[in-house]
Amino acid sequence: MILTIKGAAKTVTGSKHLITTKKGKKILLDCGLYQNSAKDNEELNRHLGFNPAEIDAVILSHAHIDHSGNLPQLVQQGFIGKIYATPATRDLCAIMLEDSAHIQESDAVFINKRREIAGKKPIKPLYTAKDVKKCMKHFYTVPYHNEFTINEEVSFVFTDAGHILGSAVINLSIQEEGKTIYLCFTGDIGRQNDMIIRAPENFRQADYIICESTYGNRLHDDAGIASDKLLQIVKETCIEKKGKLLIPAFSLGRTQEIVYTLDRLNTNGLLPPVKVYVDSPLSINATEVMQHYKECFNNDILKYMEIDDNPFGFKNLTYIRDVEDSKALNESKEPCIIISSSGMMEAGRIKHHIHNNIGREQCTLLVVGFVPPNSLGNRLLRGDKEVKIFGEIHHVKMQVKSINAYSAHADYMEIFKFLACQDKKKVKKIFLVHGNEDVMYDFKIKLMERGYTDVVIPDLNNYYELN
Ligand SMILES: [Zn+2]
Repeated sequence: MILTIKGAAKTVTGSKHLITTKKGKKILLDCGLYQNSAKDNEELNRHLGFNPAEIDAVILSHAHIDHSGNLPQLVQQGFIGKIYATPATRDLCAIMLEDSAHIQESDAVFINKRREIAGKKPIKPLYTAKDVKKCMKHFYTVPYHNEFTINEEVSFVFTDAGHILGSAVINLSIQEEGKTIYLCFTGDIGRQNDMIIRAPENFRQADYIICESTYGNRLHDDAGIASDKLLQIVKETCIEKKGKLLIPAFSLGRTQEIVYTLDRLNTNGLLPPVKVYVDSPLSINATEVMQHYKECFNNDILKYMEIDDNPFGFKNLTYIRDVEDSKALNESKEPCIIISSSGMMEAGRIKHHIHNNIGREQCTLLVVGFVPPNSLGNRLLRGDKEVKIFGEIHHVKMQVKSINAYSAHADYMEIFKFLACQDKKKVKKIFLVHGNEDVMYDFKIKLMERGYTDVVIPDLNNYYELN
């Protein structure tokens, strides 16, 4: 069989890996969007680098857009097979891909306004909500731990990757000339102590591992301090200074972690009586999906739910779906906590909240997630005194703080713990994907120091014969 790296090569987005069996069957692992700088994305996302009509099946590791976000285009360009995913991943994809389609459509409107002025032809959005509907019909759910046979050569089993709800490690068995090749694709690897979902579980012995390496050279802060730090910032901002606390957060995962942290503080009588708003329709939808999959929750939250059956809701918390209610929140000067997306602050309702409060020194922006270089979030976090939002220059007067303990990705010690179930001598090769190049080189050294003998860092379109 041949493994071809079709994305996430020396970068953290655009996950796509193609397997071609001896008999010519083609199985695609993930079909993600590139989410780097807008200029590069356009080209990379429109051209998949293979003929979608020739792909027999897709196996999807999880619902994040950098892993699932190009599936609608795959279908639009002629893919007719099935997309295998866990039930939670399917349900999350239904809401996340729809949201992604709206972003594609509004991006196209924005770009076309500029193109019209420049006398250029309009572009079509990458895909639309209609394409997402068609795409969702191709999903076929496979629960964790059920060995599933795709054809006479390929079968697989999902094991829990502990990264987000429904996330899976894909353990493939490929029959070739009377032999079985075991190939593991880690997808994204979660934390050992996630607040809500279970830790990554052991997976069966592999001959080859395609391994993510996002934090291959970093260790995370202790998650235990996050709750204390959050409480302290709430008190300083909302009680002492009577300002607003803005928390940009990814709709899936981070939002629920923050809400759950506040819910626990509230139950323990520690949270001051301040209004809390989750201002994001996607976050509301994601929270609803999460509540359907309590079987994916870890023991800590299940135990907590014996005293509070809704860990994502308390008296002072309001979820805001309607755009008019969001605008009303912008106009109010009352102290409150606003949790909104996008986490990177490049788009979404949070950008309006920042725009409206950036000049008020009693307000605080609390960064709890990854902010890419040169994003608005990154510029604020590094302490820029002036930033441009919606074409307007603003003097930054609001406080900008951060908590580094929240992350959905394992740090390198956690990846080693995840890999500890493997007999290193039996692993013939590890392919590092989904990381920045410098991080990958550091991680490769760490892996080799621990006894993995063959670690490669593929470039885009590199291919390998595995046997
Ligand atoms: Zn992910």
